[in-house]
Amino acid sequence: MAPNIIEGDIASGELEIADNNQNGNEWLKQGFGTKAIHVGQEPDPHTNAVIPSISLSTTFKQSSIGVHKGYEYSRSSNPTRSAFEETIASLEKGRHALAFSSGSATTATIVTSIGNGGHIVSVNDVYGGTNRYFRQVANTQGMDTTFVDLFDPSGIEAAFKQNTKLVWVETPTNPTLRLVDIRMVARIAHKHNAIMVVDNTFMSPYFQNPLELGADIVVHSVTKYINGHSDVVMGVAITNNSEIYKKLKFLQNAMGAVPSPFDSWLASRGLKTLHLRMKQHQKNALEIARFLEKSDKVVEVIYPGLESHPQHKLAKKQAKGFGGMISFKIRGGFKEAKLFLESTKLFTLAESLGGVESLAEHPAKMTHASLTAEHRHAVGVTDNLIRLSVGIEETEDLLADIAQALDKAVR
Ligand SMILES: *Cc1c(COP(=O)(O)O)cnc(C)c1O
Repeated sequence: MAPNIIEGDIASGELEIADNNQNGNEWLKQGFGTKAIHVGQEPDPHTNAVIPSISLSTTFKQSSIGVHKGYEYSRSSNPTRSAFEETIASLEKGRHALAFSSGSATTATIVTSIGNGGHIVSVNDVYGGTNRYFRQVANTQGMDTTFVDLFDPSGIEAAFKQNTKLVWVETPTNPTLRLVDIRMVARIAHKHNAIMVVDNTFMSPYFQNPLELGADIVVHSVTKYINGHSDVVMGVAITNNSEIYKKLKFLQNAMGAVPSPFDSWLASRGLKTLHLRMKQHQKNALEIARFLEKSDKVVEVIYPGLESHPQHKLAKKQAKGFGGMISFKIRGGFKEAKLFLESTKLFTLAESLGGVESLAEHPAKMTHASLTAEHRHAVGVTDNLIRLSVGIEETEDLLADIAQALDKAVR
């Protein structure tokens, strides 16, 4: 490899592909929890420290010009970041992973990769920040987006144009937890030579692996379940496609939205218990969803794990579980929803999701307040809708908290 002239710059023709699967296929046979704990997390070869150190150095010694151990400058590559990328790639069943400073920075980098003049197809209830990026940033860079109802398969093909480069979906969606058939949309995207991206934040790699269903790129807001402790903002993209990887790796360095070594290390630590956390998130969510469904103080419960969910069958087909997010409509309106949210003691009134602690929020006035009233109405974000991020506390305690808050809110 020729020496780089600009510090930390990677000339696109000279990329060395870090194949995250190169260390043999041994771990391919191993289970999720084993990979989460061991892949990319070998003891430090110099000290035998069981937990890899945090590598804070911004620069790395070269033994001769251009001769080094794969690290030159920390924006381009950092050992602690590489360790996280290796683990998450194995868990998403991908060859390559790239970490970013937030889920939103991941989105920005991927969107930039399609270039001026590209067209994007997305779901009408995609994450608010992603919607904002498509509508208010990508449009200024010469890209335009068509938002469609991807639950109605007949309307999808009509949204494609000659220049459609990217299809961006989330499943389940937020906050109405509707599902998109990944396999079906991937087929349509590929027929039109478009790249299919799935934002897998809500499911985590433990419950859903979109690459296996035909997606080209999986993205996560690591901020949520992957880190899992509500103390890191970070993002990641995973792919099996070396061309896509090369382009994104170039942009990761060129745009520079990289996570710090400390955040990368915390995210690796979080990842080691993802399997245990997801099991408990789901156990609690299913019991709470069933409890809410029986309550006469609730008019509708939306949880893909309930038989009453209109896409329960699809949920069972494309995912290995249903996750920890529940939305429900309380009997009454805004007043009752507000009273409920003021009355819970374990469920904290806050935005975000995916942490060990239970959270509750009011989408219409909080996470989805930037949507127009019309848009909120179209995607079913009503004033009596409440979203729960069910944590991993003891089930009985969470049930008791919900019961007492419902009693206070609805009489
Ligand atoms: C939070 C979130 C994002 C954005 O991630 P940040 O880390 O907050 O930038 C993207 N998609 C989904 C589904 C999210 O929940």
